[in-house]
Amino acid sequence: MRVVTTKAELQQLLKIEKKQQKTIGFVPTMGYLHEGHLALVKHACQENDIVVMSIFVNPLQFGPKEDFDAYPRNQKRDEQLAADAEVDYLFVPSVEEMYPYPLSIKLSVEQRVNVLCGNNRPGHFDGVATVLTKLFHIIMPDRAYFGRKDAQQLAVVDGLIQDLDFPIKLVGVETVREADGLAKSSRNVYLTDTERKEAAVLYKSLKQAEKAILEGERKPAQIIHLVKNCLNKHTNAQVEYVEIYQYPTLKEAASLHGMILIAIAVRFKKARLIDNLILEIP
Ligand code: AMP
Repeated sequence: MRVVTTKAELQQLLKIEKKQQKTIGFVPTMGYLHEGHLALVKHACQENDIVVMSIFVNPLQFGPKEDFDAYPRNQKRDEQLAADAEVDYLFVPSVEEMYPYPLSIKLSVEQRVNVLCGNNRPGHFDGVATVLTKLFHIIMPDRAYFGRKDAQQLAVVDGLIQDLDFPIKLVGVETVREADGLAKSSRNVYLTDTERKEAAVLYKSLKQAEKAILEGERKPAQIIHLVKNCLNKHTNAQVEYVEIYQYPTLKEAASLHGMILIAIAVRFKKARLIDNLILEIP
């Protein structure tokens, strides 16, 4: 695995790979790697000749009160994990390398953002779309891999790729979970022991919702009520939202049929956790 810190060097190296007709899979991350990230790499390795992973904690997507400075980082450990997972090129640019001067153009995401996390994180998806556009242009991958855990991000990237005509196939990868169901996340390290135990309830509440739907419930309000009750009863976290939308448009779901996203966000003392289920309801 080669660790690359500059755009110019990465472009030079990938030019050589492309000349040899090699296909490129791209896995963008913010680092502090866990099995969720490595599942994306595994898919990318299976479907491409070359895998590029980026690790970049993108200041543009953090709000002023968010955890940009405190976001967990450990480059040496990440390099080892990425190498073991058979990443070919690990791109770890500095903030100055990505944003050498104030941007004269930023993207503004118009659809799929005024709900869920986008509602409470103004500008977040503009920052995501801007950095991904830069990374897509630098790397020019054939396929890009994203986790379904960040379902709204996946929906926004789907829009970005379609609207800006990137010749990239978007691949959404199933959420990787701990044994008790908690979705793996770099932010789980912020949880206290008690919170860590309670955090398993997020997935349990989603599975309860799935069960109720399988048993015939079709009213979104009922399902939302059920999930909120479960979270409030079994955790001390503050429930930020429980919402249901059509997927991937993130439009209102009047009743439950077709592709449906049930998404939750809760706030523990130092960690904000999200989780979701995407269900196909006949
Ligand atoms: P992050 O480093 O948190 O920005 O995540 C980088 C990529 O890994 C995103 O596409 C995430 O959706 C994905 N990812 C994060 N956690 C998981 C997980 N538990 N399972 C699958 N993918 C994940």
